[in-house]
Amino acid sequence: MTRKAAQYVLRIDDLCPTVAAGRWAQWRALLAEFALRPILAVVPDNRDPELQASPPDADFWAQMRALEAAGSAIALHGYRHLCASRGRSLVALHRNSEFAGVAEQTQRAWIAEGLAILRGHGLHPKLWVAPRHGFDAATLRALREEGIVLVSDGFARRPFLRDGVTWIPQQIWGPVEKESGLWTLCVHPATATDGEMEALRRFLGRHAGEFVSVEGALAGFPPTRLRLAERLQAEGALRRLRLAHALRPVRRRLRRCSSSSV
Ligand SMILES: [Zn+2]
Repeated sequence: MTRKAAQYVLRIDDLCPTVAAGRWAQWRALLAEFALRPILAVVPDNRDPELQASPPDADFWAQMRALEAAGSAIALHGYRHLCASRGRSLVALHRNSEFAGVAEQTQRAWIAEGLAILRGHGLHPKLWVAPRHGFDAATLRALREEGIVLVSDGFARRPFLRDGVTWIPQQIWGPVEKESGLWTLCVHPATATDGEMEALRRFLGRHAGEFVSVEGALAGFPPTRLRLAERLQAEGALRRLRLAHALRPVRRRLRRCSSSSV
């Protein structure tokens, strides 16, 4: 099998009318500069105080429509972005989530309502992006019933078929050079620092031509079921990430100790 050169999809999470206005303007400029067609993960009815960084932007939905018309893909990013459930997710990276473990009837209602809100603003959501990677088999059933059969999640190195939907994996949160495979780079507009944006800009300067739309990713890497070795690799990547998350507070404490001793 020939190794296909790496391609990247950019995903922007936590978009809603109260997104940090100045930062979001910088991201829009970056999308325009490099003609990017990212996944835009939109919270339909945000109630998460952390995503209320600016007064509601009356122009927000028009911006989303324009970006979609230019080739970006709109994703349903949960419903209210309130992660009060502790159910087990199909991608078990975090303990709390909005959807995993919630009664199927409720999940169905949230998904139907979320899609109706986005469609009411003239958008055409085609993917699911779960807040905190939290979703279960009931979520996928509800999504399939609503005609959403694309999920952005998982740690394989190419799009794949599982549980009756197509998964476009999302594995990185910053620019990383890869030799092969399809890599989704996820950014959060409110919390990305100037340094992180600059690093991405430099990466785009070298690799913008390797960034593709959702359609491009699926055309370049036609999804099939993962082979055993690929499943094991993805599970290993998830385990390493879980460990890194678990160690984060310890590392922070260590860093504090070493900096206070200088
Ligand atoms: Zn989110």
